[in-house]
Amino acid sequence: MPSALDILQHTFGYSEFRGEQEAIVTSLLEGHDALVLMPTGGGKSLCYQVPAILRPGVAIVVSPLIALMQDQVDALDELGVSASFVNSSLSYDEIRTVERRLLSNDLDLLYIAPERLLQERTLELLERCQLSMFAIDEAHCVSQWGHDFRRDYLALSGLRQRFPQQPFIALTATADERTRQEIIDRLQLHNGKHFICGFDRPNIQYRIRQKAQARKQLLNFLQTEQQGNSGVVYCLSRKKVEETAKWLSEQGFHALPFHAGLSSDIKRENQNTFLREDQVIIVATVAFGMGIDKPDVRFVVHMDMPKSIEAYYQETGRAGRDGDEAVALMFYGIEDVVKLKQMASTSEADEAFKRLEQQRLNALLALCELHTCRRQLLLRYFSDELENPCGNCDNCIEPPRSWDATEAAQKALSCVYRTGQRFGVNHIIDVLRGANNERVFKFSHQNLSTWGIGKEYSADEWRLIFRQLIARELLAIDGEGWGVLHLTELARPVLRGDEVLELRADVQAKAESRRKVHKRIVDDIEEADMPLWQALRACRKRLAQEHGVPPYIIFNDATLRDMLVHRPEDEHALRQVNGVGDKKLQSFGQAFLDVIIEDNFNM
Ligand code: ADP
Ligand code: ZN
Repeated sequence: MPSALDILQHTFGYSEFRGEQEAIVTSLLEGHDALVLMPTGGGKSLCYQVPAILRPGVAIVVSPLIALMQDQVDALDELGVSASFVNSSLSYDEIRTVERRLLSNDLDLLYIAPERLLQERTLELLERCQLSMFAIDEAHCVSQWGHDFRRDYLALSGLRQRFPQQPFIALTATADERTRQEIIDRLQLHNGKHFICGFDRPNIQYRIRQKAQARKQLLNFLQTEQQGNSGVVYCLSRKKVEETAKWLSEQGFHALPFHAGLSSDIKRENQNTFLREDQVIIVATVAFGMGIDKPDVRFVVHMDMPKSIEAYYQETGRAGRDGDEAVALMFYGIEDVVKLKQMASTSEADEAFKRLEQQRLNALLALCELHTCRRQLLLRYFSDELENPCGNCDNCIEPPRSWDATEAAQKALSCVYRTGQRFGVNHIIDVLRGANNERVFKFSHQNLSTWGIGKEYSADEWRLIFRQLIARELLAIDGEGWGVLHLTELARPVLRGDEVLELRADVQAKAESRRKVHKRIVDDIEEADMPLWQALRACRKRLAQEHGVPPYIIFNDATLRDMLVHRPEDEHALRQVNGVGDKKLQSFGQAFLDVIIEDNFNM
């Protein structure tokens, strides 16, 4: 009998297990249960696929994401693994075929939606088959406490009694302590081992920038670093989604909109194009994302601030699932802060909830204004610890300068105070800069001692200062009305001169174009390698079309990159490339070898 490592190498084409994978596989092979908490892109599927192949019988994989089953089965098919799925999209005849294969023990894995699995007819059928194990994917859906509860999942509780012999593995990427406990209780995993892996997504580079002509910043980013890549651009409103998608198309990108206001046909079509084709940018509200399992998303851009660190981490987490380098870029400005603060304080929710929302928002602001490693703060937020700065976020790559802003802050704060804590940021800046406009005269603010004391900074510079004062909670924004500012207790020591205030000297937009920041993405592929890179991608695309699958199912980006580095010229060398297993070598090997040999010839 082959070992787990044999399967990993020959079937999947990977040289070694990652992190906890081996321990998890071993545990299942010994017949124990397992709870697996692993970040997106960590490699959860291998944890049950390898034992499913090795253990006699069929493994039942429960997944809520019907749209993804087809892809998963296609991917296994290309690896030479016998798998199928059952969900509401299949015809009666197709279901009969699957049932026949089940009964003749012809399948290693069966993907199934929970509502279908729990039908009495299905359960009876399964009792007549040889089962190797159960894998419950997206297991946090059983938790009423978690953020993605599904009623169908709750009923999975009964599964354990019915099938006491088979090991159960529950997998999720998002589970805090309480959700985790609920998964264990509901699925009765008390006798299994728990594998809690860190939250870190080391291949995602975090960058947070202040908005200064955000469209231009976006264009610059796409043109200098992301030509030909797939990605997601999030905007706060539907209108902005439409406008941004249109504008990107005019700039020559293949950009498609996605938001809840579009018809379901258009949504489906745009989503499919994004999944199946290379080089598509989806511009979306946060309605887009759930159930999108495209592994080669190379960037996620936030044109507006998300509403919490949880949301930010989940949305950026859609980048780089294949483990290859990816960028998460956020633009934010004072308007975002004001808008979100108002939304949080004027919502219908009760006071306790509002307070929680405000806290979440403040935590996000702290992340934005941070001088030090972004990843360390993110992980600490999720009670995970990263000992050293990561080296792969904007602050690590280009540490921001800070400056003594005590005097500027004193001017700003006293101007808020002198105007009676009744005005928004724009008016305060007008007063500071000594404006002679109608509004200033209307309130006789030209007579104040703070009128015109801040001419040394431009309005934009003042905006940055105010934003940081809000983020540091020296100033607060009233919910009602127009973003009225008032002082908090924290302002007092600064006003009195008891405290020195260091603010971040913002790395201006121009830093965006400095090569240092994005060396990891584009510079990875040398100029001279570009023709081969393009040719490999074209080859992949052609094969994908022939097989009717998305390109990444043929080979993922990491595998193509590996080919670029090693330039294998025969089957033996190609087999050494990460991600090339026996079956794929046989199906696609020659096509890729031809491309590589042709390129070497041209060099
Ligand atoms: P998850 O379900 O945890 O988001 P996946 O199972 O989709 O992650 O795996 C993410 C990517 O990592 C896939 O492209 C997969 O092929 C790759 N991968 C998983 N395990 C390994 C490994 N041991 N070696 C190399 N690549 C791996
Ligand atoms: Zn860092």
